[in-house]
Amino acid sequence: MLAFHNKSVTKLEETDVVVIGAGPAGCTAARKLAQAGHSVLIVDKRQELGAPIQCSGAVSRHALIENDIDPDPEFIHEAVYGFKIMNGKGDETPIDYRKLKPETYGTGEGRNPLGYVVDRRRFDRYLYTRAQRAGAEAWLKAEALGYEKSGHDVVVSISHFGEVKKVKTKVIVGADGLRSQVGKWAGLQTHIKITELASCLQLIVDGVETDGLLELITGRQTAPGGYGWVFPKGHGYAEVGLGIIAPYTKRTAQQHLDDFIKKSFLSHRFRKAKILEVQGGGVPLAAPLKRQYADNLILTGDAARHVNPITGGGIHTALSGGMVAGQFIIDHFHENSTHEARRMAGYQDAWLEAVGNQMWKLYKVKRDIFNINDLERQDEMLYDTMRNYFSPDSEFKKV
Ligand SMILES: Cc1cc2nc3c(=O)[nH]c(=O)nc-3n(C[C@H](O)[C@H](O)[C@H](O)COP(=O)(O)OP(=O)(O)OC[C@H]3O[C@@H](n4cnc5c(N)ncnc54)[C@H](O)[C@@H]3O)c2cc1C
Repeated sequence: MLAFHNKSVTKLEETDVVVIGAGPAGCTAARKLAQAGHSVLIVDKRQELGAPIQCSGAVSRHALIENDIDPDPEFIHEAVYGFKIMNGKGDETPIDYRKLKPETYGTGEGRNPLGYVVDRRRFDRYLYTRAQRAGAEAWLKAEALGYEKSGHDVVVSISHFGEVKKVKTKVIVGADGLRSQVGKWAGLQTHIKITELASCLQLIVDGVETDGLLELITGRQTAPGGYGWVFPKGHGYAEVGLGIIAPYTKRTAQQHLDDFIKKSFLSHRFRKAKILEVQGGGVPLAAPLKRQYADNLILTGDAARHVNPITGGGIHTALSGGMVAGQFIIDHFHENSTHEARRMAGYQDAWLEAVGNQMWKLYKVKRDIFNINDLERQDEMLYDTMRNYFSPDSEFKKV
């Protein structure tokens, strides 16, 4: 194992893998690698993981279980049992799994929730702890600044509490989120079109009733290019928010949210709302990166645009991407080969097979909706697609 505890370390340290970014993608990759006995250093520039919160935290139970995470009260705000899809014209489709599949979903003996709203601060810290307990070395307030080639390996520069440290490694996992720099350092094409970047804003509120469902409101009246939401947050709190695509409207996300709360068909529900927190951030509703690897490097999570382009959900896909990244590197080390791009390409193949092909399919559905010029028709298509996506007999495998 590494010995990084001496703050004055200036000599070159070595580790099998450096994971940059300790969100769901990075922590999962680091845990997987550490469990297999590899030395791994995970770094995050934040001093508190998941903070400030830029996420509604909705994730399916299946996504957690599939990625070896027990749904733990430590990070769960509220259980979720289904969806209600609305379009603002009076149409609504409840998809309540408590009623659709009462033998499986609900409360009581032998039944489970469909998913959860998690607290991203506590969830990210939980995942980080799991990675450390598996044996990963982990640094907070540690910003990766760049890397350079060194023989078959690379040396990563990391500013840790202001001191620049050099860490030699075989492979870097770039899990540094939406504004990823790691891919850029490697010369990968990471540009995201403004028409595919959702600006999201949400309020944590008291005084808004919810009933265990994720409520999604489609239609350009509410959220041009995206959708609005009301999610249960536990303890009588709710999340009320929306995401818009800037070129589709002259107004800001804040103006749209203000209207949604004060003037929309749901405004009666918000009359007693008291705002407790304001959160925001960007979500890539884009295609996955066409190339997610380079010499000594792979990208995963938001950094590789592993986000469901229809729902904007990125927790499940970050967890799965992290798993695939970790497993790929384990297999790669078994082969005892060098780490040029052509050797790293297998990561993308493995990812496409596990989740990526499904994400490309969803991206094409999303693109077809927003390529329609007739805005009425566009709204109808989005509403139908959401209803279809979340229904039990959807043609889509949920990601
Ligand atoms: C408002 C909003 C609501 C959302 N709601 C949901 C939801 O309900 N459900 C859902 O599934 N998804 C949701 N998402 C999307 C989800 O939050 C992301 O897709 C998910 O966090 C991606 O995980 P990640 O591990 O790839 O990246 P991140 O969680 O962004 O983690 C990246 C980490 O990298 C670190 N980092 C960056 N650069 C460096 C560097 N140079 N050195 C060291 N560390 C670095 C960052 O500090 C950060 O901790 C939402 C997003 C937003 C903005």
